[in-house]
Amino acid sequence: MAMDESNGRPLSAVCVFCGSSPGTDPAYVEAARRFGDLLGRTGRTLVYGGGKVGMMGEVADAVLAAGSRVIGVIPRAMVVRELAHPGASEMRIVETMHQRKALMSDLSDAFVALPGGIGTMEELFEVWTWAQLGVHDKPVGLLDAGGFFLPLIAFLDGMVTRGFLRAEVREILIVDTDPARLLARMATHVPAYQPQWMDERQT
Ligand code: AMP
Repeated sequence: MAMDESNGRPLSAVCVFCGSSPGTDPAYVEAARRFGDLLGRTGRTLVYGGGKVGMMGEVADAVLAAGSRVIGVIPRAMVVRELAHPGASEMRIVETMHQRKALMSDLSDAFVALPGGIGTMEELFEVWTWAQLGVHDKPVGLLDAGGFFLPLIAFLDGMVTRGFLRAEVREILIVDTDPARLLARMATHVPAYQPQWMDERQT
């Protein structure tokens, strides 16, 4: 049970999307370690893609070192290639990438992306799109490090200006450089956006 927010959602299980590479700036790996350490110290469970390499391995190692649980969700083909973290508290084996994302989502109370590549972006945008559609109302955050996400944020803000993204949907995505502040903001975030899609389908 998470213990560092006095109000808001407890966010007991946090799903992390991040690179299977470490990136070139040491600030990225440092952010992965700090975020994993925070999750571990606050008694949260990490849910993630189950890898032992890059940023993924760093987050998982830090959670385990701080004494908390790590649940990996990994497609069978990746286990065979020995990419799965051997120290994970639990490793859920699934058949497809789609099953992986669905299970990671079901097991989690919140989603946080750290610097990563196209796999990270794909996972982030899918869960954010699900929030837009009303499939879930779990908070979605970005932990920035070394200014990695600044070009993406500028692009997203341009999407709002150009009329392709509603400002209330943009605001679902909470961005911070500090792990504890990010989680606190996510725990207490009340979205201005109310999904219309489900209701419209019923009418
Ligand atoms: P990328 O950002 O392209 O490095 O992809 C990272 C994301 O894709 C992670 O959040 C994982 O869910 C998934 N992924 C990519 N590579 C691996 C791997 N070697 N082991 C486990 N998951 C991976």
